[in-house]
Amino acid sequence: MNDTLTRDEIVAFLSSIAVKMRVAGPVRDGKAVEYRVSPPETFLFGDAISYKSSKEFYFPQTERLISFRGGEAISAEDPVPTVIFAARVCDLEALRVMREVFLNGRYKDPFFERRMRENLIIGMACVSEKPGCFCESLGLDMKFSDFCDVMLEPIGEDIFKVARLSVKGASAFAKYGLSEIECDNSRSARTSKPAIRLRGEMREAEIFGLVDWEEMLTACQGCGMCTYICPTCHCFEFRDVSEGGATDRYRCWDSCMYPRFTLHASGHNPRGTKAERYRQRVLHKYLYVMRNTGMTACTGCGRCVRSCPVGISVKRVAEALMEAGA
Ligand code: SF4
Ligand code: SF4
Repeated sequence: MNDTLTRDEIVAFLSSIAVKMRVAGPVRDGKAVEYRVSPPETFLFGDAISYKSSKEFYFPQTERLISFRGGEAISAEDPVPTVIFAARVCDLEALRVMREVFLNGRYKDPFFERRMRENLIIGMACVSEKPGCFCESLGLDMKFSDFCDVMLEPIGEDIFKVARLSVKGASAFAKYGLSEIECDNSRSARTSKPAIRLRGEMREAEIFGLVDWEEMLTACQGCGMCTYICPTCHCFEFRDVSEGGATDRYRCWDSCMYPRFTLHASGHNPRGTKAERYRQRVLHKYLYVMRNTGMTACTGCGRCVRSCPVGISVKRVAEALMEAGA
């Protein structure tokens, strides 16, 4: 059985599947690495991490949900099935968190469900931690996640070890003659004991007083970059756009770092300051989602750390909370 593939074989596989599905992967864009739909021969196979994650291929930044024309409701177009190539462990584990939110909660999101069913995810192991990354402090194995259909691991110059993790992934590769059908589900994703994890025994009001949130957030610009760039952030709002008697309803990403995010119609805002908004962001990731799902909703991808224009680090804040006993 063939357990390795060369870069050329992977490009050939992606090119052949691109006839039926769109294929997205990391590409160079100036100094940045971006995640884009692009010809497979343009994809990067090195260890660079993309500026943004692959989140938008499950949860687009803007998506039309329904339209109204002359009193008639018209459903949105079907999502386009997509191959997501070279998703990193931090993004795969973020997708696992998203599944809890969009599929395993009280409501099921049919758009997300359909993308989960139809997309093909090919993960790519990291060779080293990049500046700002801290996935291993959160107990993740940077080289492996089983939350994908196929996992690739670089083991030499343009050679990749292949783990086929789902029937969908095994079938896709078998169909293109690259390997036999076999699913390897023997490894798990979250292997080690996390160095950063809140105990979660204190009451919320006690945690609020453990650190000086105002002081930590003095420089925050409220730009929302940390939320837009985060692979686990999933807040959204609806917008209706009307023109010429027709209305389209869109779902758009929103940010808890924006002042109007929790503004009530009465004018009252329960999170009226930057510090209150950031506190909610951190505790949502490290405490509330943990209580609901057993997983931290931060995968240590480091994107918000690298992108914050004023150097605010969610890792430092989480560590400060831990040190204070949270
Ligand atoms: S909070 Fe920051 S480090 Fe954690 S997953 Fe989101 S962007 Fe990555
Ligand atoms: S990226 Fe930095 S400055 Fe912008 S909202 Fe987030 S914490 Fe504040």
